[in-house]
Amino acid sequence: MAKQIQAIRGMNDILPTQSPIWQKVEAVLRHTVAAYGYSEIRTPIVESTDLFKRSIGEVTDIVEKEMYTFADRNSDSLTLRPEGTASTVRAGNEHGLLYNQEQRLWYMGPMFRHERPQKGRYRQFHQFGVEVYGIASADIDAEVLLLSARLWRELGITEHVTLELNTLGDPAERAQYRDALVAFLEQFKDQLDEDSQRRMYTNPLRVLDTKDTAVQALLADAPELMDYLGEDSKNHFKQLCELLDGVGIQYRINPRLVRGLDYYNRTVFEWVTDSLGSQGTVLAGGRYDGLVGQLGGKDTPAVGFAMGLERIVLLLETLELTQDIGPVVDVYVTAFGDACLIEATKLAEQLRNEVPSLKVMSHCGGGNFKKQMKRADKSGAQVAVIIGEDELAAGKVAIKSLRTNEPQQLVDSHQLAQVLTDLIE
Ligand code: ATP
Ligand code: MG
Repeated sequence: MAKQIQAIRGMNDILPTQSPIWQKVEAVLRHTVAAYGYSEIRTPIVESTDLFKRSIGEVTDIVEKEMYTFADRNSDSLTLRPEGTASTVRAGNEHGLLYNQEQRLWYMGPMFRHERPQKGRYRQFHQFGVEVYGIASADIDAEVLLLSARLWRELGITEHVTLELNTLGDPAERAQYRDALVAFLEQFKDQLDEDSQRRMYTNPLRVLDTKDTAVQALLADAPELMDYLGEDSKNHFKQLCELLDGVGIQYRINPRLVRGLDYYNRTVFEWVTDSLGSQGTVLAGGRYDGLVGQLGGKDTPAVGFAMGLERIVLLLETLELTQDIGPVVDVYVTAFGDACLIEATKLAEQLRNEVPSLKVMSHCGGGNFKKQMKRADKSGAQVAVIIGEDELAAGKVAIKSLRTNEPQQLVDSHQLAQVLTDLIE
């Protein structure tokens, strides 16, 4: 037998049994962004490598070791997108959507990072994100957080996620803080783990979110960014906190939250859960006022977030919140004999016309009563509609409940739609 080809490690198939959960999550996302008046943007999955180097930053995890980069047939360096923000800004600049305008955008789709695959961490994964351009004030930071809080309510997971919030200040403030932090870290250089030693000079703020507990302990006395903020940055953060307090969104200020990407300034946040082990961040984002300019556009304030869909699906499964997701089929239509097949096919089409919300599967491939009923049962349908020669002659169809002990009933064909609507609400 020929050898079977396997999927690429860390790149998952979403099977028919799982896709209803994905569809439910996607439906919640679409309808929530619609409720805030956001518009969708779709960008290519492949971009110039430079786009990500210039936006995410050369010394970040993503650019240093996670990108799928390759030369195409013209020897151009291309990269499978590792995230959505850079592409959105690139498209916004290219099509003149950003400067002097307001845009509230969202996107959803696959992203690619060459990481070590594990629970909640894959090489192809999916993100949903929002990006807002042209608004510098903290009210829009609050809006994207409100939108995310609504997602949790709609998905029924509010109790299982918490919001962590921090501010990174403006670039000049951060540069001052960076110097102070490096000076502090230099005193303990020998006690730092390998990653932190390397990051100390390349990207010292990343040392703050080290996973090494010994280093975490050292950091208790590290200087705090909050003390380096100017009036404007402080006020922005204060206003955001007041807005969140005012609308009743709870959060925890985490001075160690720095995010792994270079482009953030001022507000940064993560929604985290403790139900997924170490891959606990389900949504992350912040303000990135410098990026549009950095990618060649005119300076435009911006704020956004990205959410990992695999982690949301895992969370729903872990919390056993996937039960109420309805079956793919409501009604299974069977037919016995050629004449009946035509009638059954017509009837099934008519049902789909009359009750558009009803999911009607027609039996195909013939077979005896037992075979057709077995298929009906396997389809997950509530009821089977049975059309045999006797029923056909009498202008009737039989309805058999597949999930209860209700006796089979005979109804007039033209009443079928009504009877089924009553049976399956
Ligand atoms: P982490 O610290 O978990 O590596 P990150 O800071 O790299 O996350 P972002 O780039 O901010 O993540 O992406 C936003 C969200 O996308 C994450 O919070 C997570 O839910 C999801 N995500 C990121 N990388 C992966 C991955 N490799 N597999 C699955 N989901 C991911
Ligand atoms: Mg990462």
